[in-house]
Amino acid sequence: MTAQPVQTITIVGGGTAGWMTAAMLSKLFMGRYAIRLVESDEIGIIGVGEATIPAIRTFNELLGISDVEMLKATKGTFKLGIEFVDWREKGHSYIHGFGKIGIDRLWLRPHQFWLKMHAKGAARDFDHYAINVVAARANRFSDGRGPKPVSDIDFAYHFDAALYGQFLRRHAEARGVERIEGRIIEVRQNPESGHVAAVRLADGREVAGDLFIDCSGQRGLLINQTLGIGFEDWSRWLPCDRALAVPCESVAPLTPYTRSTARDAGWQWRIPLQHRIGNGHVYSSAYTDDQAAADVLMANLNGKALAEPRPVRFTPGKRVKTWEKNVIAIGLASGFLEPLESTSIHLIQTGILRIVSLFPDMAFDPAVVAEYNRQTDSEYADIRDFIIAHYKVTQREDTPFWAYCRHMDVPDSLQSRLDLFKSSARFFKRNEIELFREESWVQVLIGQGIDARYDPSVDLMSDAESAGFLKDIEEVIADAVRRLPSHDDVIARHFKA
Ligand SMILES: Cc1cc2nc3c(=O)[nH]c(=O)nc-3n(C[C@H](O)[C@H](O)[C@H](O)COP(=O)(O)OP(=O)(O)OC[C@H]3O[C@@H](n4cnc5c(N)ncnc54)[C@H](O)[C@@H]3O)c2cc1C
Repeated sequence: MTAQPVQTITIVGGGTAGWMTAAMLSKLFMGRYAIRLVESDEIGIIGVGEATIPAIRTFNELLGISDVEMLKATKGTFKLGIEFVDWREKGHSYIHGFGKIGIDRLWLRPHQFWLKMHAKGAARDFDHYAINVVAARANRFSDGRGPKPVSDIDFAYHFDAALYGQFLRRHAEARGVERIEGRIIEVRQNPESGHVAAVRLADGREVAGDLFIDCSGQRGLLINQTLGIGFEDWSRWLPCDRALAVPCESVAPLTPYTRSTARDAGWQWRIPLQHRIGNGHVYSSAYTDDQAAADVLMANLNGKALAEPRPVRFTPGKRVKTWEKNVIAIGLASGFLEPLESTSIHLIQTGILRIVSLFPDMAFDPAVVAEYNRQTDSEYADIRDFIIAHYKVTQREDTPFWAYCRHMDVPDSLQSRLDLFKSSARFFKRNEIELFREESWVQVLIGQGIDARYDPSVDLMSDAESAGFLKDIEEVIADAVRRLPSHDDVIARHFKA
């Protein structure tokens, strides 16, 4: 027997999460449901979250949004990867690039040959064997259209978070989403089922709904404050719990990558946009204080600061359940892994698509809810492990913060991955929805300086053959990158806001 269909979807919150949800549901459901979004100008949005990963392009494609339209509207730039400065040790830098690393030989990935030949002094730094990384270092860009190895390029965007929200709002409203401005002061629940029935605004209006999407940010107005779903705290593995964000004036060139520079008790981001550079210092309050953190940030800007540093506090972790009764939490209401690998907007996106693939009827079948929560848990845990690996695999012990990170215990799921990689530089995905691919793990673990042995099958090839194979990769990539236009030129010609 089929239960009654859902008629109205009420989204609580108009930050990046709320408007991404409104834009996508209104597009995919084509007017089937009444969709409303409640937001409060008085409360505002968190206003950070400006770096993305390539999967956002699939999201934009589903929405029918082009690169040109979005980058112009959000004063955005392209992102080929993330540079990690001083993470392995002071003075060292590597890039985690999106896209492929070289080419395979036999059944082996190129890093296997590299591990052997680099130890013998017969290969250059690992950065030279991935086209995204070589292009990033040269400040060049391509959208991957072209013959190999250019087609191995993959990319994401940097954009102004506030402008991205407004941009999506226009799309959502054009497809019939009703925006309701007002501060929610009370949540009314069905006395029998405990389901959320309506939210009441400060001016007395009530907004009802069948399905509620909680996009209210860290407070989790519905999932936490109303339904009491607790939080799994992961700060023993991810010790950063505060951030200060500040924009500064742009400087040339317009780098096509995010930079993350390790600091004594955390790290600093640098996100180049067309009109400004976004900067932030993410740090651990157990190892430094707010004033010292602000001093470090302000002393390390490339251009003149355009505002005072804005503080944000957070706890790394996730809600025990992200779907409970008729409430699904998306965005910061569902959890937050610190911004090191720019994964929050991605988690918003996969959460929305998961809502679509498991869209309920009014029975809110527990089997559907359980599957949604299972997938979310698994996705969060995999990303968590990848981020922890950046802190754990380091040679730094020069400050109490880094000594803690280097020696901390990590989740078993990560430890077994690190053990396998150390034994033979092998990596396998463990489930379908896992976000980070082998290329990402390889670049980060090698970049962070893991001590790994190579796969014994590498010895099937002579040293001379292995060295020649790596040299070919390096030359083909270097030659292709030399022909690419500069990132500045690409933006100026086609994407200027
Ligand atoms: C320091 C930092 C850096 C980050 N950097 C990145 C990054 O580079 N890349 C990335 O992908 N992500 C990043 N993130 C995460 C990213 O900022 C968020 O995932 C994203 O902004 C989504 O936020 P949100 O919409 O869930 O919450 P918010 O932006 O906080 O929005 C909450 C909404 O709920 C509304 N609301 C709340 N309470 C009420 C109420 N009582 N009544 C009415 N309305 C209400 C508010 O008005 C607002 O509209 C970062 C986060 C932090 C903390």
